[in-house]
Amino acid sequence: MLQEVEKLLALQDRDQRLRNLRQEYKSVPGELAALKKLVADSTAKLEASKARAKAIEVEKKSLEMEVAAKKEQIARYKTQQLQTRKNDEYMALSHEISAAEKFIRGIEDKELVLMEEADSLAPQIAEAEKTFADEKARIDGRIAVLGEREANLSSRISEMEAARPASTEGIDEDLLEQYEHLFESKNGRAVVPVEHDVCGGCHMKVTAQTGLALRSDKSVISCPQCGRILYLPA
Ligand SMILES: [Zn+2]
Repeated sequence: MLQEVEKLLALQDRDQRLRNLRQEYKSVPGELAALKKLVADSTAKLEASKARAKAIEVEKKSLEMEVAAKKEQIARYKTQQLQTRKNDEYMALSHEISAAEKFIRGIEDKELVLMEEADSLAPQIAEAEKTFADEKARIDGRIAVLGEREANLSSRISEMEAARPASTEGIDEDLLEQYEHLFESKNGRAVVPVEHDVCGGCHMKVTAQTGLALRSDKSVISCPQCGRILYLPA
């Protein structure tokens, strides 16, 4: 194999690794954001349940106060009933009392519904708090790992970038440019093997002439179909 092609192969191997590292590095922020969103969503859900539980308490208190006020009113009506001698006034008060009692029953029904909701909410909140604590610990662990991975990737990428010029030494400038263009356009596969006279890039049979030129090993040969740089594997 031509020394230049050999160098290109080694360069391609490094460039592919560098490309993978860059892709991995690029995916980290998205993964981090997804994890943080998980925590935020769980927090919001838990907070909403807690807020509802608190709202129920407030509503219950206000209903209790309404009941107490109505009860006082009933007591006043009853006192007035004892004091009056007029039959129609007595009847009117009785009517007021039964209306107030009906009102109280309505409120007590509402209280019952609220209490049932509070009863079902309490275990839900307890369960959610427990899962949330577990989830958060697990996610925080993953976030820490990702942060570490991000830092490691960053330093490995810098190292490889710094070392790259040395790997291009001895490669003709035009050939290097051709290689770099192919590497970008052919998804990281610029230099490919020819096996059984078939190009490893486009999988087309190479011409007899190309095969001959390749075997003579005198110059860099490109695939006539896809333009990739060819080599014969040892
Ligand atoms: Zn080809």
